[in-house]
Amino acid sequence: MDTKRSASGGLDLKETQSGPESQKWFHRALQLLPGGVSSPVRAFRAVGGTPIVIREGQGAELVDVDGRRYLDFVGSWGPLILGHAHPEVVARITEAVQRGTTYGAPCPDEVELAELVIESYPGLEQVRFVSSGTEATMSAIRLARGATGRDLIVKFSGCYHGHADHLLVSAGSGLVTFGQPSSAGVPSSFAELTRVLPLDDEERLRDLFSQEGDRIAAVILEPIPANNGLLLQRREFLQELRRLTHLHNTLLIFDEVISGFRVTPGGAAELYGITPDMVTFGKVIGGGLPVGAFGGSRDLMKHLAPEGSVYQAGTLSGNPIAMAAGRATLEVLRQSGGWSRLEALGRSLEEKIRPVLASTDQPMSIVRVGSIFWMVSQSEPPRSAETINDAQADKYRSLFAGLLERGIYLAPSAYEVGFLSLAHQQSDLDRFARALAEVLGVD
Ligand code: PMP
Repeated sequence: MDTKRSASGGLDLKETQSGPESQKWFHRALQLLPGGVSSPVRAFRAVGGTPIVIREGQGAELVDVDGRRYLDFVGSWGPLILGHAHPEVVARITEAVQRGTTYGAPCPDEVELAELVIESYPGLEQVRFVSSGTEATMSAIRLARGATGRDLIVKFSGCYHGHADHLLVSAGSGLVTFGQPSSAGVPSSFAELTRVLPLDDEERLRDLFSQEGDRIAAVILEPIPANNGLLLQRREFLQELRRLTHLHNTLLIFDEVISGFRVTPGGAAELYGITPDMVTFGKVIGGGLPVGAFGGSRDLMKHLAPEGSVYQAGTLSGNPIAMAAGRATLEVLRQSGGWSRLEALGRSLEEKIRPVLASTDQPMSIVRVGSIFWMVSQSEPPRSAETINDAQADKYRSLFAGLLERGIYLAPSAYEVGFLSLAHQQSDLDRFARALAEVLGVD
């Protein structure tokens, strides 16, 4: 662990130092994979040092290739709501795999998972399964354009919807970390069809709709924005968005790739009592395997091939093993009162962390909804990407390194949220709070 004095914030500026085996693997990977990783944020560029390379996950714990153990609050970025290697999920995957890995033909598991998803989510009548969240949002946008005959789409700055071209404009997630407003390789003519608005601003919304409302195919947003910190929205803002989209026959798409089945079975739609026209899922519904889905009313979904003229397909879509993992996850959540247990765990974490943050001499707070949390370097939690304190990234580096040294694994970026799972115990939360107090120098 390399420790230097920080110029700002009073915390020691530390850099993570992974163990010798992690370093060996990572240096080998650097020759073979761009940045040594299969997805950018994993490279630790935002926090410094080199990543820990993982050998195994069990319950709430990760073990790296050096045998170091970490209490995991990343949960593979959201899917692992039951924790790592949950026995029921493992058993159902094992059972499914005996019957083959993929058929490229209809299978009962996709029908069963579709039923579970549809009966849980307000207004949903049909879904199409895909293999990632990116595919889900990309296909939802195509369907919205095809169904409305309009080209414009609206997104909000800081909301991340995967890496499809027209959505990679003012996105959050890894792009905030790297300070890139967008990506090279996205043609400007694509980006021109995307309007970007700030969150939490009804006036800007009304202005845009009064100018271009009748050309807008869809508005897509994370109703619980969780890719640029956790920017919890006012219900009135979401209601105004629903009112305007109805008024202009624009489709409202809730991207619930993170929030779907995470906060409640009916996602943010249930939480806020607002029903979108379309919804996208990923993460939790795949139980840790590659799954995404998008859906809406039958009337809307009939535009999709083979019934309609909007094309979308996938070799591994509705994969039987992934469907079995998703089903197992949702069934365990349902049968074990999972969502209320996660809410109780989340509340408990908040109660343990809040006094620690309040005792530092710096403004810090914890924002939380259900089992999603984020620590931010300001006393008033922000509701838009534009109002996040500039010091956030710098301060987080030290926090991250100090916690990792104490066996607590948070996301390697100041703008990524943390996730609790049903595998976390009260004692884990106590350990987290104690480690945080130590790192922040609070007694
Ligand atoms: N939408 C949201 C809200 C997401 O958080 C993500 C991924 N973090 C995506 C879409 C893209 O999902 P994937 O990484 O599975 O392509």
